[in-house]
Amino acid sequence: MRDKSDSLTMGVDLGGTKILTAVVNSRGEMMSRDHSITPAAQGPDAVIQFIMQSMNRSLGQAGIAISDLAAIGVGVPGPSDPDAGVLFTAPNLPGWRNVPLRDIIEKATGVKSFLINDANAAALGELYFGAAQGARHFIYITISTGIGGGVIIDGKIYTGTVGTAGELGHMTIDDKGPRCNCGNTGCWETLASGTALAREARLRIKEGAATTILKHVDGDMEKITAQVIQAAAEQGDDLAKELIDRVGYYLGVGLANLLNIFNPELIVIGGGLSNIGDMLLTPAIRTAGERAFKDAYRTARFAPAKLGRNSGVLGAAAFALHEMNRAV
Ligand SMILES: [Zn+2]
Repeated sequence: MRDKSDSLTMGVDLGGTKILTAVVNSRGEMMSRDHSITPAAQGPDAVIQFIMQSMNRSLGQAGIAISDLAAIGVGVPGPSDPDAGVLFTAPNLPGWRNVPLRDIIEKATGVKSFLINDANAAALGELYFGAAQGARHFIYITISTGIGGGVIIDGKIYTGTVGTAGELGHMTIDDKGPRCNCGNTGCWETLASGTALAREARLRIKEGAATTILKHVDGDMEKITAQVIQAAAEQGDDLAKELIDRVGYYLGVGLANLLNIFNPELIVIGGGLSNIGDMLLTPAIRTAGERAFKDAYRTARFAPAKLGRNSGVLGAAAFALHEMNRAV
């Protein structure tokens, strides 16, 4: 049974391929969870309609009315301004340009709504409900095809002047490095992501390096992914091990920068690539220790993210809670 004094929020995780919604209580327990596709090619109006429908199914599952919600938090896959509630652009959502999504949802539902970039939302999710509970200064990074992040200072998410802060994956690590999707070169995510790992594997194989990686993909270079390289490494493939170690090194270079700039007590690491575990994280943390100021390194902990696939939806709900608490 629900405690009537408990604040219920709706978390919405809008992605390029899927929409997740969930009714979440103040302890981060999901009372419902609805999953639908994102009709991305049909543009913003169709996507917004799908969000509304998913929220309605979530309310039905939880057995509550929309008026029972204290707030709605929406996590969005692109740079956005949480104060204005506007999503500027989204690389995976064609046609989205300066969409005032927060006000659209607030008007349609009559419920106080909030909007935030998905990686910042996930950082708050870990702070409220996951691996960073109780932390004052902490950094969240998520490593998959790219690197996303969120910076929590004094228990609050730092979003910057127009909300674009926390793009940790786009700090320059090597100015002569590979071209990044953002237009720059040598960003952290071009050197320390799943995409970087697969790209380096293809390059080395083309150069004639000896490896069993191709056996895992029937000889098709295009099918090489981070998971394939992980599998090869676990079976003892030297090239795969070397490539993961190299990505771990670059991960550590970026971590050292974060330690020096923010002196956080905790860095929480999530995302698909982090599932590689020690093979990746041991060289990363060693490199961070070699490069960062001693006191910054000594006083920081590293921990795996706890919320997994639900980090976006729980994070969006956490942001709504965070903003409601801030307003009190
Ligand atoms: Zn970049």
